[in-house]
Amino acid sequence: MQLTNRSKQVSNKQMTFAERIYLPAIATGLGITIKHFFQKKVTIQYPEVKKNLGPVFRGRHVLKRDDQGRERCTACGLCAVACPAEAISMVAAERQKGEENLYREEKYAAVYEINMLRCIFCGLCEEACPKQAIYLRHDEFVPVFTERDQVIWGKDLLAENMNNRYLRKAWTKEEAREQDIKGIDAKPRTQL
Ligand code: SF4
Ligand code: SF4
Repeated sequence: MQLTNRSKQVSNKQMTFAERIYLPAIATGLGITIKHFFQKKVTIQYPEVKKNLGPVFRGRHVLKRDDQGRERCTACGLCAVACPAEAISMVAAERQKGEENLYREEKYAAVYEINMLRCIFCGLCEEACPKQAIYLRHDEFVPVFTERDQVIWGKDLLAENMNNRYLRKAWTKEEAREQDIKGIDAKPRTQL
């Protein structure tokens, strides 16, 4: 009885001499190996060489500043509410007179922390933020940590460095799709 139409009749034919000594099969295998020597390599020497992860890869977080170097975060807490891993915590503070060059809004995050052990890099904090203040970098992983005190990332690690600003070609998935820039190295297009 035939159960499927994918059954295959197995041949009982005697192997030829060449088949028995496996020479043609070995030669074919070697040919495939040699062919790969001349093809583009798909492996890279990580961590010395880093792969382009694409414009919407979700890596380590960055708390963006505006063009004048002021922190964009207003400690509204929406990212913390959106976070399914409850990894974000913050303490809000009121901006004082003379601090206008440090914080863009009247309220800012005096403390902003992300527990990287809890974070699942879902990007929901980025999507929830109404101030375009938090982003997950497309070009950097969170480094491996070996100590407990390396797990909680505060503003010292998260706030954007103005001498080395984080730029990318597309800031949203829609932009990335529109520009069809998948797999192309990100170059500064706009600054947030
Ligand atoms: S990426 Fe997801 S899990 Fe990580 S902090 Fe943001 S919302 Fe939470
Ligand atoms: S990062 Fe954005 S969502 Fe989170 S507290 Fe700051 S302004 Fe609000």
